[in-house]
Amino acid sequence: MSARILIADDDPAVVESVSWVLEEHGYAVTAVPGAAALLELVGSGEERPPDLLLLDIFMPDGDGVQLLERIKRDPRWRDVPVLMLSSAPVEEATVRTLGLGAADYVRKPFRVKELVARIQAQLRVGAVLRQQRDTLRRTQEELERARADAENRRKLVDILHEVTGDLAADEVYNILARRVARALSVSHCAVILAAPGRDDAVVATAFENAKLQKRPISVGDYPEVREALEHDRPVLIEELSASPLYGLRPAMGLDGTEVPVRSAMALPFTVDSAQRGVFLLRRTREQPPLTPEDVEFAEAVIGAAVAVMQRAQVIETTRADNARLEQLATRDPLTQLLNRRALTERLTTEMERALRYDHSVALLLIDLDHFKRVNDTHGHLVGDAVLRDVSELLLGVARSVDVVGRYGGEEFLVVLPETDDDGAAAFAERIRERVEAHAFRPWDEDRELRMTASIGVASFPAARIESVEDLFARADAALYRAKADGRNRVRL
Ligand code: GH3
Ligand code: MG
Ligand code: MG
Repeated sequence: MSARILIADDDPAVVESVSWVLEEHGYAVTAVPGAAALLELVGSGEERPPDLLLLDIFMPDGDGVQLLERIKRDPRWRDVPVLMLSSAPVEEATVRTLGLGAADYVRKPFRVKELVARIQAQLRVGAVLRQQRDTLRRTQEELERARADAENRRKLVDILHEVTGDLAADEVYNILARRVARALSVSHCAVILAAPGRDDAVVATAFENAKLQKRPISVGDYPEVREALEHDRPVLIEELSASPLYGLRPAMGLDGTEVPVRSAMALPFTVDSAQRGVFLLRRTREQPPLTPEDVEFAEAVIGAAVAVMQRAQVIETTRADNARLEQLATRDPLTQLLNRRALTERLTTEMERALRYDHSVALLLIDLDHFKRVNDTHGHLVGDAVLRDVSELLLGVARSVDVVGRYGGEEFLVVLPETDDDGAAAFAERIRERVEAHAFRPWDEDRELRMTASIGVASFPAARIESVEDLFARADAALYRAKADGRNRVRL
């Protein structure tokens, strides 16, 4: 495309000759007859400024120097190279106009070769200037974008900071909806939870109305939500009125009423294998439409937050697994009482405490009498039921500080902190009486079964007892004497 040159000169002879010469050289030339016409052109701001201006410094309707000042103030015109035309003495005009931003000076009457050479030189300078201005503008835009990005990242970090706490999913959704709504200035921001392939969904949280929480909705009423769920990808509708998804139908709020929505985005995410979620963000007609950059930001926030939630869920599951393992390691599966290993540990602690605080700890070893007969007569299932009954009975008698456990088979154990031999013997006697008086009913029917127990008692500190094993052995010896003495009795 040929360069466009504008001539502002009141002398039609000059305009005509210069135009003819320049057009011969391939330039597109236009002209204005004086200062007023030039000012009008600059002020109108309509036409694209020329690539070069030839300006007569002396015109009857205006001073060329003032004109130059005015043109250089206009941001659209300031980069246009201006070649001054003058019949005034060179020195004076040059000094005055070059200082004001004129690019060059041509003396009238001019020589054609010189004029064209200067025009070519100035057009080159103008092109370089324009290019650099473009680069500068792009750099400034990039800077602006980087600034916006940094701002978005800061918001993101803020949001995640709030979310990474030990929060339940509901609270996380609340925070996300609130923060994303504010960061993107959306009027509506909700989290909707749905099962894959189903139309019924539920509102987990809605920034626009707290009362919508837990409200059931139909996915079909929200085309962008349905689309996001079906195809598992973000859906952006910049203008609802122009979207084939909506057609002529109006947008519906989560409360079922019509809402003046202009644009919407739906971002799907996965909660777990049974649940999918969608963030639904919408702007009203008074607000600017949502953009792909908004989608990017929302995706980043939500993606990161969902990862945080999933991690929290893994930690939760691991915690539950650990608790289950702990339970397996320390509990007897039949009665859920502490097992031998756990009992040994507890007894060690209690013996250390007894030494430190100078009190005693007692131990009861309880063995059911002739338990083998129960199994032999009624079977193992009945035997098991009796063992569970005995454990209930022991727990019922024990104080909260006492520790009840199953030592093995049909042997139970009770640790009595801050109890001496006499106290323990009295307690053992109470247990013996309870077992003897108890009607065991391992069957659904009216039949009952009677049991007795022999109990060995030992306590610490005592002579020649230095370890948990010593204490167990002492209680076992007492139990042996109870059996030997005829069973259903307590021995120290
Ligand atoms: P004693 O009066 O001398 O203690 O006689 P006993 O039959 O109670 O003692 P013994 O040690 O000879 O038999 C214990 C029986 O307890 C043997 C076993 O079948 C039974 N037993 C051990 N653990 C379980 C269990 O978990 N379930 C059932 N049903 N029986 C068990
Ligand atoms: Mg027994
Ligand atoms: Mg036994």
